Amino acid sequence: MAKLARPKTAAERKARLQRILGHLDSLYPNVTCELNHGSAWELLVATILSAQCTDKRVNMVTPGLFAKYPTVEDFAHANQEELAQDIKPTGFFNNKARSVIGAARKVLSDFGGKIPRTMEEMLTIPGAARKTSNVVLGTAFGIASGVVVDTHVQRIARRLDLTKESDPGKIEGDLMKLLSQDRWILFSHQIIHHGRRMCVARGPRCGACPIAPDCYAKDKAV
Ligand code: SF4
Repeated sequence: MAKLARPKTAAERKARLQRILGHLDSLYPNVTCELNHGSAWELLVATILSAQCTDKRVNMVTPGLFAKYPTVEDFAHANQEELAQDIKPTGFFNNKARSVIGAARKVLSDFGGKIPRTMEEMLTIPGAARKTSNVVLGTAFGIASGVVVDTHVQRIARRLDLTKESDPGKIEGDLMKLLSQDRWILFSHQIIHHGRRMCVARGPRCGACPIAPDCYAKDKAV
């Protein structure tokens, strides 16, 4: 494969980034979080359950779960072992049950039963680290608190040379510097979609990817 010429100046780097964002807009114009939910609280629960699990599987579990525990109070008073069984198909169910019950109790005790709207407050909730908090704040409230860095964003940000870091916090910092704040929410969703549909971990579908002319990933498959 012939090596692509990399941008040398700040203007060239900016133009390259704009081309990449333009392709993402064409590919995934109106994407949002794929976790089904009816409220910010339900989204928080679904996001906690989605750790190490597909959104599809979470979406199979949550309708029955939210029917059985319709309110934050119901989760706060849930029996941990029973809840673990209810969410078993999502994996790591004991830890997740503990987090969900802890989150419900915290939301009730400190935030009057409502999901808070700042990152600082979100980070006090059990089970809500930066990634989960960014998902909830961005999707439920449209608050651009940061960039969601999941496994897809970690992989693709590096493939696209938008970061050289491997630590999720540092990757997020790089992306927040690179992108204007009004892109943070959409960019996360677009990259997650790209990672599921085209820029998959093994055998990315580079032949069909319009970003290919600007991509110099080592494992680009052409
Ligand atoms: S060209 Fe391949 S590696 Fe690069 S972004 Fe597209 S799918 Fe991913």
